[in-house]
This record gives sequence, C-alpha cells and structure tokens, in this order.
Amino acid sequence: MTKDIATPNRTKEILKKYNFTFKKSLGQNFLIDTNVLRNIVDVAELSPESGAIEIGPGIGALTEQLAKQVKKVVAFEIDQRLLPVLADTLSPYPHATIVHSDVLKADVRQVMSQYFEDGQDVMVVANLPYYVTTPILMKLLEERLPIRGIVVMIQAEVAERIAAKPGTKEYGSLSIAAQYYAKAEKVLTVPKTVFVPQPNVDSAVLKLTLREEPPVKVRNERYFFEIIRASFANRRKTLLNNLIHNLMGKDNKAVVEAALEQAGIDPNRRGETLTIEEYARLCDALESVQER
Ligand code: SAM
Repeated sequence: MTKDIATPNRTKEILKKYNFTFKKSLGQNFLIDTNVLRNIVDVAELSPESGAIEIGPGIGALTEQLAKQVKKVVAFEIDQRLLPVLADTLSPYPHATIVHSDVLKADVRQVMSQYFEDGQDVMVVANLPYYVTTPILMKLLEERLPIRGIVVMIQAEVAERIAAKPGTKEYGSLSIAAQYYAKAEKVLTVPKTVFVPQPNVDSAVLKLTLREEPPVKVRNERYFFEIIRASFANRRKTLLNNLIHNLMGKDNKAVVEAALEQAGIDPNRRGETLTIEEYARLCDALESVQER
C-alpha cells in the first residue's frame, strides 16, 4: 500500500516527480502531517454518507483523508500545474473530483447540485490559501449554501478575530459578520512545522457551524452590515463619531443621536462593546428615525 500523501517523504517524492515549485502568490503551504489532517477531518464530524467540499487541494493531502471518510469529495483548485499531480495522487479515490477554478469566481451552488444529492450532509473542509481567507469564508457564508458547516485551517489571528466575543480586542466587523451566519469556534492551534514551505504566521483550525436562522432579525441586512463596518472604522472613536463620519455625515448628527437613544445605546460607547443584538436594534432604530 502506498503511504499517505501528507508524509514528508511522499510529499517530497511527488514534488520532485513533477518538478513542482511553490507559488507564494497562491498561498501554497502544503500540510505534511497526517495527524493534523486527521484532527481536521475529525472536527468536521463526517459520516460515510457525507459530502465534502475542499478549496485548494494542493497535491491532495487533505483530499485523500476526506476521501477515506466520505461518499464524495469535490475540490476547487486554481493552479493548473496541480491537475496532473492530483490525477496521479488521487487515482485510488475515484469519488474525489477536482474542479479547476478560482473558488471566488465559481458557482459553488451549481457545482454542489451537480455532485451532491439533495439534502446530503455536506461540509467544507480546507487548508485555505491565506491571502484570500476572508473573501472565501464570506462568500461561502453569504451565499447561504446548503452546507452544515466549514472547518478550515487559517491564520491563528484571523481565527481569533472570527470567533471573538464583544469587548475583546479581537472583536470586530468580521466577528459579527461570521457569527451572524454561524457559530464560530477556534478548535486547534497548529505549529508552522507541519507545512512546506513554512508560513510566516501561526495557524489554527476554525469550525463554523451554520445557523438555521440568524441570531437577530433585521429589516435590512445590507444596512445592518454597513452600520457595523462604519462603527469599527476607527476603533479609537466613539460609536457616535464613527457613525457620523463613516456613514451618516455631519449634518445628520441629530438623526444618529435619536436612533442611539431609541435603541437604548450610550453614544459614547465604542463599536467593539456592542453585541450583535444591540447592532440589530441600532439598525432598526436608524431606519425608523429616518422614515419619520
Ligand atoms: N490542501 C493542500 C494541503 O493542505 O496541503 C494545499 C493547501 S494550500 C494552503 C492552498 C491551496 O489553494 C493551493 O493548492 C493553491 O493553489 C490553492 N488556491 C489558491 N487560491 C485559490 C483560489 N482562489 N481558488 C481555488 N484554489 C486556490
């Protein structure tokens, strides 16, 4: 039996056979530790009937571990040079399909309907390219795909920001955006030594379990996220000042003050102290004050 792809020796052999050179611009840091990969897969709680979506299979290290557990794996890979490598390394797993595309441009829902059954349990599991972590996660969440959740290796600092609670220095618009769609937990920290080449930053595994309903109901979702972005634009400024300078304009100071009062929020607080529920109240209050 051949050894797992994610062993230092087998990875070295594969890279040599294909004369593969890493592209830093594509965030290519491959995992060479089978235990770490198994831990990632365990966190996803997959069954033999599950499906898995991977983003950036590289030479197939994680794809292989997923394929051993689930009924179907679909992996999006942007780098054409990896296609012949994957055809070779994944040949024992015919139920693993590679889609050659930039996941940010791909119609993931359409691909899912092509390869997964209706109602099938599907998880996204990936060691993400770090240069596009946030856009990829936000795309997957905002599109409200029919998935149970997302388990990803990302920069530790980004995992902390996404899972952060109000009042902490890591809490920001990204925490709220992600937690609006999902329950977020940082589950593992991972040393740099399990990658080739080693990345410059520490890594962590983040688990997002999608919510059936958002934790708050807002009348205008788009406006809700605009308010949040404006509230965090300058962390040293008060909520009132951020809302005036980054959203409503100086002439609308009275409108902002009236909305904050209606929502029961002290205008001198800072954006990072508000809970998602308070942002929802603020959003509805800003709308209703402007309708008057
Ligand atoms: N899964 C492999 C592993 O764990 O060893 C490789 C992970 S590596 C961190 C990221 C992978 O994502 C690379 O294979 C890279 O070519 C691919 N990639 C980068 N940008 C991408 C994009 N926009 N869409 C799809 N794949 C991308």
